[in-house]
Amino acid sequence: MAQHKMPDGLHLQTLAVRAAVERSQYGENSEALYLTSGYVQSSAESQARRFAGEEEGDTYGRSGNPTVRSMEMRLAALEGTEACMATSSGMSAIMLMCFSLLKAGDHVVISQSMFGSTLKLIGSEFARFGVQSSVVPQTDLAAWQAAMRPNTRLLFAETPTNPLAEVCDIAALAEIAHAAGALLAVDNCFASPALQRPVEFGADIVMHSGTKYLDGQGRVMAGALCASEQMVNEKFLPVQKNSGMVLSPFNAWVVLKGLETLDLRMRAQSALAQELAQWLQGHQAVARVHYPGLASHPQHALAMRQMGGLGGAVLSFDLKAGSAEQARARAFHVLDALQVMSLCTNLGDTKTLLTHPASTSHGKLSEAQRQAAGIGQGLVRVAVGLEHLEDIQADLLRGLDTLK
Ligand SMILES: *Cc1c(COP(=O)(O)O)cnc(C)c1O
Repeated sequence: MAQHKMPDGLHLQTLAVRAAVERSQYGENSEALYLTSGYVQSSAESQARRFAGEEEGDTYGRSGNPTVRSMEMRLAALEGTEACMATSSGMSAIMLMCFSLLKAGDHVVISQSMFGSTLKLIGSEFARFGVQSSVVPQTDLAAWQAAMRPNTRLLFAETPTNPLAEVCDIAALAEIAHAAGALLAVDNCFASPALQRPVEFGADIVMHSGTKYLDGQGRVMAGALCASEQMVNEKFLPVQKNSGMVLSPFNAWVVLKGLETLDLRMRAQSALAQELAQWLQGHQAVARVHYPGLASHPQHALAMRQMGGLGGAVLSFDLKAGSAEQARARAFHVLDALQVMSLCTNLGDTKTLLTHPASTSHGKLSEAQRQAAGIGQGLVRVAVGLEHLEDIQADLLRGLDTLK
């Protein structure tokens, strides 16, 4: 339905607070929350035309909602895509993408560093329906190239990744995909469009967990796929209508309002993460800090090019230890000593959240698989929020300065 009319060429910060559907007859300044599952039709004729696709207008909550549409328009504007389809969570966005684009016999290439549920959904669940997949090292372009097969339809990358903040070259992956007639999808959850717009580097689809930075305050689950109008209308929409992985209007409204401060939050949280990463590097209990904004990061130059000169808000660090047991005990000590920050497996919140990947997100892997992935028992992940730097440092020092 009609987008609120605006001049061309507006900047990201303006679109983030302005892009939405037209105001209602009441002239509300803050976008309305249309909490409704059905829509009253003006006549049986009009209803028939709407069901036949000959007239614009909503018919039922599974097929469309004005608040959800505002969120989709706003996120598409930020990502620089023609269109967007919102979903109930990040995982349902990946589900919708794979369901819409793949069939039995097709092949997908994904990185081994991707979000754990993504690896399971594509590598195990979709495998039951005959979709093949190859899992390659995140940063090894030759491995992505070598994994290509005549039936490869999709390359799916995530950058930076959780928890080691590995960065991949979106433009190079787009070239590999397109040369083989395949599509490139990018999970842009960690950088968000405030720092990184994958379509500018040639990606075809941008996938989001709106649960993270788009909401930005840890309140709701949400997801989205940003792509061309043709892909959204012809591929995603029919599957979405019939499968029902729709975003609730309330959650869409929360994300819509969250997008208004996305740019400010990403800049402030990235700046805090940069300072914290540099400070942690200098602490005697810390062996190594993983953060794209540090010169010591293996893809630092690429990350700065791709992410607008900022490193994002997630970092992780390895504690020095003599054995895996000691490393785990030290990581647990640091986490249990916190008095301000949260022990919480989420990210993208205004509150700083810490996790122990080896016993949570990567807990089901064997020790050998964890070692191969670089996830040691002494690794602590910090998703930096908006508290004062000195309070974050003091909270970390409660554990770091009392290690046995
Ligand atoms: C959280 C997350 C997802 C899954 O999103 P949900 O909203 O939790 O379903 C996918 N990818 C990345 C990188 C994530 O951090």
